[in-house]
Amino acid sequence: MLTKIKTASLWGIDAEPVTVETDAHPGLPSLNIVGLADMTIKEARDRIRPAIMNSGFSFPGNRITVNLSPAARRKEGSHFDLPVALGILLLQGQDESPAAGWGVMGELSLDGQVLPVRGALPMAIGMRKCGIKKIMVPEGNAEEVSIVEDIDVYPVSDLKNAFNMYTGRVAPVRYTGAGARDEEDRERAAEDYADVIGQENVKRAVTVAAAGAHGILMIGSPGVGKTMIAGRMPGIMPDLDYEGALTLTQIYSIAGKLNEKRQIIRERPFVAPHTTITKAGLLGGGARPRPGAVSLAHEGILFLDEFGEFDAKLLDMLRQPMEDRKIVITRDGRNAVFPCSFMLVAASNPCKCGYLGDPRHECTCTQGQIDSYRNRFSGPLLDRIDIHVRVEAASEGSLDGKAGGLSTPEMKKMVTEARKIQYERQGSCLNGELTPAQLKRYCVLGSEESRFMSEAYKSLGLSMRVFNKIIKIIRTIADLAGEKYIKTCHIAEALQYRGIDGIFNR
Ligand SMILES: [Zn+2]
Repeated sequence: MLTKIKTASLWGIDAEPVTVETDAHPGLPSLNIVGLADMTIKEARDRIRPAIMNSGFSFPGNRITVNLSPAARRKEGSHFDLPVALGILLLQGQDESPAAGWGVMGELSLDGQVLPVRGALPMAIGMRKCGIKKIMVPEGNAEEVSIVEDIDVYPVSDLKNAFNMYTGRVAPVRYTGAGARDEEDRERAAEDYADVIGQENVKRAVTVAAAGAHGILMIGSPGVGKTMIAGRMPGIMPDLDYEGALTLTQIYSIAGKLNEKRQIIRERPFVAPHTTITKAGLLGGGARPRPGAVSLAHEGILFLDEFGEFDAKLLDMLRQPMEDRKIVITRDGRNAVFPCSFMLVAASNPCKCGYLGDPRHECTCTQGQIDSYRNRFSGPLLDRIDIHVRVEAASEGSLDGKAGGLSTPEMKKMVTEARKIQYERQGSCLNGELTPAQLKRYCVLGSEESRFMSEAYKSLGLSMRVFNKIIKIIRTIADLAGEKYIKTCHIAEALQYRGIDGIFNR
């Protein structure tokens, strides 16, 4: 006889349905798995036999062939264990199963426990797209999968439990939600800008950055609070909608980054890779494609601390994905696509010793060292970072416990309203994403403003190269003020963020 059980196979952020066909023939006892299975699936043979025996079942004494259909596409993952084991058990004279047509996924331990798997959410979404509405999943994946609307989730603890449920020996118990656990993200979300004392100008700069989706570079001595400021940025961006949370949770699921404390991604992410990160770690890659840091930062912040220490070639590779807002990885002639619409936030010391321009400490660098450090801050990626701001140590007076200043909820309200104005005016794109043609259309200067701007250019010795960056920021500042027309005060503010030269030439 032949049994068929539905499951899925991952590819990029998507998954496609797979049918596990199991058949038994007379012959020497053996278990063969065919259908372009990779090593993790081949190894399933070594897990499935003990899992079946240790669950109190007998293993069939004939020749068993398992085919993963469609056979033409490569498959990977330990989640095939459970459907294959169930298929084998069903061979032993079962009637029609009440759960025929359900989707099934799960890894087996040797003692028959069902263990959580990577990519459960995208696989559930892939199965749902093909009309499967009931899915049996490991207990550890139930919460993650339950965010798919219009799907019934049945968690199972071990193989015996799964077999009894699949064959109707016990009534299936549908998962109703234990309350999503997202403790890690919630802890971070509780951090407030009200605790960042005496940095109102920098808080203003990050508000402008978040409002218009502008990249921002913060330069300042060690210990002035750059990381503290960057880490709070996701909190001032508008709430993530359902689609956004679903996509992010898929990305984290595929990356194997969901756990007990973090089952659903509902908060905008903050991802801070180390300077030694590899190309695959940053952009994604691998024989079986996995998302990189840029995709884990999707809809949130990619924070590059010690920006000058990153490999310049690696940083250059960020340009294309920033433009496309997705990464395409080609393997076996197929494209795996991972979204990566993130905001870039960079931070750096002003020089090697860290104290150039710091009134409290003397810089011990030679002019040569200062020049060579500064040279790292040039190039095409820097051109994509619109806002450059100097972060100074908070002055003594502002440290006397007077928190005050803007709070995260206040900044978030400003950002949300300014973004609404941009969407109404220019469709789905924010000011930081405007093309040169759109800039001409949406960032018109009156005659007085044009005169002010050209005088500022002359007196500050600015190049036309920075014009396109400044005009975007001016537009965002006007939007934050709720002004339809750009005024000279908006231009004056934007000129403070005019670029790296202004910061280094102090
Ligand atoms: Zn120095």
